[in-house]
Amino acid sequence: MTIQLVEQLKTLDQKHFLHPTSSIEEQQKYGPAAIFCEGKGIYLKDLEGNTYIDGMSSLWNVNVGHGRTEIAEVAKEQMEKLAFSSCFATFSNEPAIKLAAKIAELTPGDLNTVFFTSGGSESNDTAIKLARHYWILKGQPNRQKIISRSLSYHGLAYGSTNATGIEGFRKFTNSPAPDFHYVDKDSPEELRRLIEELGPEKVAAFISEPVQGAGGVNLPKPDYFQKVREICDEYGVLFIADEVITGFGRTGKNFGIEHFGVVPDMMTFAKGVSSGYAQLGGVIISEKIHKDFCELSKGILMHGYTYSGHPTACAVGLKNLEIIEREGLVQNAKIMGEEMLKGFQALQQKYDFIGDVRTFGLLGAIGLVKNRETGELFDPLLSPIAVQEMTKRGLILRTVTYGQDTIVFSPPLIITKNELNEMLRIVDETFAYLQKEIIGNGVK
Ligand code: PMP
Repeated sequence: MTIQLVEQLKTLDQKHFLHPTSSIEEQQKYGPAAIFCEGKGIYLKDLEGNTYIDGMSSLWNVNVGHGRTEIAEVAKEQMEKLAFSSCFATFSNEPAIKLAAKIAELTPGDLNTVFFTSGGSESNDTAIKLARHYWILKGQPNRQKIISRSLSYHGLAYGSTNATGIEGFRKFTNSPAPDFHYVDKDSPEELRRLIEELGPEKVAAFISEPVQGAGGVNLPKPDYFQKVREICDEYGVLFIADEVITGFGRTGKNFGIEHFGVVPDMMTFAKGVSSGYAQLGGVIISEKIHKDFCELSKGILMHGYTYSGHPTACAVGLKNLEIIEREGLVQNAKIMGEEMLKGFQALQQKYDFIGDVRTFGLLGAIGLVKNRETGELFDPLLSPIAVQEMTKRGLILRTVTYGQDTIVFSPPLIITKNELNEMLRIVDETFAYLQKEIIGNGVK
């Protein structure tokens, strides 16, 4: 594409496209960061001819990598046969039925019945509404309160925004919804105290990511979820695991919560269920909840989206899960995750400004600090400069700057050892630049 045409697109973008979770100021000043036009495996290409490693699987979601012809073919076939039909009023379709059954087969314990959505935010809103409705059916209508953890991210629809523990997202508007409460992310004791304080008879559910993603790839203590499960059981509170990032192999097991040996009452999923090839998500509920719904629900379940059970999206999901299984990508995430940690530790040896490094399968984080002993952060923070420099060198990563200065990683589950080394080489090269040009010369 000619430079003129790219410039034209950039101008149109600035004028007509309000971007999600983006700096309007930066967009207006510089135009879009890149206009992507192609993807293959772990790589993305933009209209200006630059190639990048997609170190975040785009938004933690393109787990099987870009450019999968067989998924495109399935989508084409399904669209030609039946692109869309409704699942309201008990109408159904084959891909939705088969995908629900497949997900039930993969999920732990008695999580066996699926409600479909178009993404993670809708899934968490759905879980919150199903939990509250469940208690109404059970004759405990005052159980409406939802508890979540500091630094959690559950999406940006209305309920999921209010459940999100990263305050900045809630402050975007000035009218928080009632009945949302927050606890320190590391303290099960605080959860117990809050339930007692609110009154257990008023608490509907506790929601948590098994490993926090957008909050900084924050790993829980090994016994955290065991304690949470016990507390929820003790007070009759439902436990919702948000597996939107951690679901379908990212952590080296099918689901993140499986690492901790507990089974939630509901699990929400999105992203990895379709690797982003179609907009798809959902909630899977336990047999116990489903049985109660079957026995107690009269009339219509007053919740549903046009695209709940979208035939094309579900056909894409099925093919995506088939690829994950056929190519052993869950196991690859485990093995490559271990390699990624070794790579991070080698970098940590080399650069004093690296604080904590952590991985959980193919989720990773490198924390940057001015002082390792005190944990003091750079001012201004270093990670935004770092990822900008990495982009220039052909690697796309993300920062987390809520009370920390962290670079997060979430490469596609297909990544090979060589590709991982290439990614780490760019990180190394960028850190060497930062050491010399930014930190070394006293800017920091
Ligand atoms: N939950 C978690 C854990 C997420 O990471 C995200 C998205 N980053 C969401 C929910 C929201 O998903 P979506 O953006 O598809 O609505």
